[in-house]
Amino acid sequence: MLINLTDVLTSEGKTEEQQVVIEMTSFSNGLEEYMIVEKSPLDLKISNMSKGKARVEGKAKIVLKMNCDRCLKEVDEVLNLDIFREVFAPDEIAESTDEKGDQTFMEGYQLNVEDLINDEILLSLPMKVLCKEDCKGICRQCGKDLNEGECGCDTFVPDPRMAVIKDIFNANKEV
Ligand SMILES: [Zn+2]
Ligand SMILES: [Zn+2]
Repeated sequence: MLINLTDVLTSEGKTEEQQVVIEMTSFSNGLEEYMIVEKSPLDLKISNMSKGKARVEGKAKIVLKMNCDRCLKEVDEVLNLDIFREVFAPDEIAESTDEKGDQTFMEGYQLNVEDLINDEILLSLPMKVLCKEDCKGICRQCGKDLNEGECGCDTFVPDPRMAVIKDIFNANKEV
């Protein structure tokens, strides 16, 4: 959805507020696509800061279906988006090419809501997705979900000091 910001970008002191229904049903980070299972409307507030410059503030709740990094179980990841950006009129961007050129969610005087939200989700994604803080993951040998109990596989990791003693023992035995 495109929102025309011509008015607020050109009228000093002007503020516009509106609620926007988020139409997107999935989010893609370029590698993977995640379903959006729940979303609130976007509360948007755009305030003129000076000629050709405005502040975009927005709040929305998005719930993404992701997978636990350890056990792969599906997790509803709740993201409370708190958007705070500055946008510029097209002729303002032309004047300076520093961070102003970074407005991928602006199309001329129009704000592309989906692009803005996509950009914000990307910044809000957790480094690690876990179904619970102490998820035990899955067994590397049999694939059993260790949160449901031990699988009985031999996951014993030998103590390196013990290995040395064993080597000495074996060496002696060969003599
Ligand atoms: Zn897990
Ligand atoms: Zn196992």
